[in-house]
Amino acid sequence: MSISQLARSIVDSPTLRLNEEARLLRERGLPVIHLGIGEPKNKAPINAILAAANKLNAGEVKYTPTDGLPSLKQAIISYTEDNYDRIIAPENIIVTNGAKQSLFNVIYSLVDPQDEVILLAPYWVSYPEMVKMVHGVPIVVSSKDGTFYPRMEDILEAVSSYTKAIIVNSPNNPSGVVYSADFIGELVEYCETKGIYLIMDDIYHRLVFDGKLAPPGYQFTQNDIESTKVIVTNGVSKLYGMTGFRIGWVIANRRLVEVMTNVQAQMTSNPGTILQAAAEGALNGIQSSVESLRLTIENNRNVIMQELRSFSGIRVTQPEGAFYCLPDFRAYEENSIELADFLLKKALVVTVPGIEFGFEGHLRLSFSGTVKDITEGVARMKWAIDPESPREIYIGDRKLIRDWL
Ligand code: PLP
Repeated sequence: MSISQLARSIVDSPTLRLNEEARLLRERGLPVIHLGIGEPKNKAPINAILAAANKLNAGEVKYTPTDGLPSLKQAIISYTEDNYDRIIAPENIIVTNGAKQSLFNVIYSLVDPQDEVILLAPYWVSYPEMVKMVHGVPIVVSSKDGTFYPRMEDILEAVSSYTKAIIVNSPNNPSGVVYSADFIGELVEYCETKGIYLIMDDIYHRLVFDGKLAPPGYQFTQNDIESTKVIVTNGVSKLYGMTGFRIGWVIANRRLVEVMTNVQAQMTSNPGTILQAAAEGALNGIQSSVESLRLTIENNRNVIMQELRSFSGIRVTQPEGAFYCLPDFRAYEENSIELADFLLKKALVVTVPGIEFGFEGHLRLSFSGTVKDITEGVARMKWAIDPESPREIYIGDRKLIRDWL
């Protein structure tokens, strides 16, 4: 079989692969704990369900405009005004099949072969692959001080005449850090001056803890929506716990939206009609579910931090948002793929190797699940890693045997 070079060069999604491995182990009856997946446990908001059901009951489920239902766009306009204090027009929005497609659409529409896109480590796993899929070059910037907070001077060193865009995700997947207003402000100013696109992946922007806010890019530009270099991607997956509905959107200037609409028209026509109705229901409906989800996740953050602090040898930066942390396990093992593999086999706990996010020696742990899973998951990890712990334990009637790495 002759597979294209480009397709061959794209690696699988480690998180989706781990989900599948966990599913297969569970199918075999093994008591797997999943600290790998970023997916809240809540039910979809009732307004989303009702809106989708109404659409279904009407039986009129047809194509929508490629760039999204006009009524959903109205809901996104209100959301943008409420959350960003920005007035935008329907022509500044394209609705997509999840924020993942939003990002791909933006990258596809901006990046020429050999163009460079700067990613800030730790970065979301899909960014480098998406850039490679359009023959672009991902340039990873890691903070020289080893923290999860990139510094402006490190970014400036990475900029070249090929730099087309910088992708920023704050609150950050996988570290949970929120970048400071000073940093975002400096970055916006720099990008506006240099003509570099600043793609703000805001998928977690309202899941922030301790009464803080994630400074939005728009706050720091005087330019209007047609001339700013700031592009925003967002969606309903994380904020409303509606991961399966697959609705995201991009806010950008009209020309870019027009181009992305042509791209999407040739790829998928439009996002599912019922799913768009559900997203509209969520955005227009009672918003209490967002705060209750945020509070649940903040409590989970406190629980996982407490559990991890009693884990001798590991170092962890306290997440300020999203639902992930990225502890440093180098005191035990440098190779994060081997460590994640060991933890899955011996302790039946799913984690994601830090190397996938550009941070070797770390593991990404998600606290989007239940408190019970978090406490038991971390306890099992401690048991598996600590050479002093008993060689065998029972989980229910199942015996787990630890052999040191
Ligand atoms: N951006 C980041 C940083 C994410 O973590 C995710 C999902 O995990 C997405 C985008 C994509 O979200 P969606 O489910 O809307 O495609």
